[in-house]
Amino acid sequence: MVGKGLYAMSRVKDCPLCKGEHITPWLASKCLYYIPICATCGNPMAVLRDHGRNPSPAEEQRILQMLSVLADRHFKGRPWVLDRTQRTITDHWHVHARPVPAG
Ligand SMILES: [Zn+2]
Ligand SMILES: [Zn+2]
Repeated sequence: MVGKGLYAMSRVKDCPLCKGEHITPWLASKCLYYIPICATCGNPMAVLRDHGRNPSPAEEQRILQMLSVLADRHFKGRPWVLDRTQRTITDHWHVHARPVPAG
């Protein structure tokens, strides 16, 4: 168990989100989360540094606020949506900001 408020990170070997390699530019780096450009789809994505847990509602709000600011900047005012679907990595919390498809 991890105590509340303690950032005792659980990391999993071979999980790309735990490794957090700088293979793409990062838009933000915090102790709770980081926001890189996704290496798979090229969109900004917020990644919790902790593996296998969900952020508390307050943490999630903080993370999504930062993602919103950075996505607005990244997409230069074009519309985008939060995508909470975890397609490739299902056990490590992350949220994408994706452009709204035209038409
Ligand atoms: Zn992980
Ligand atoms: Zn992606």
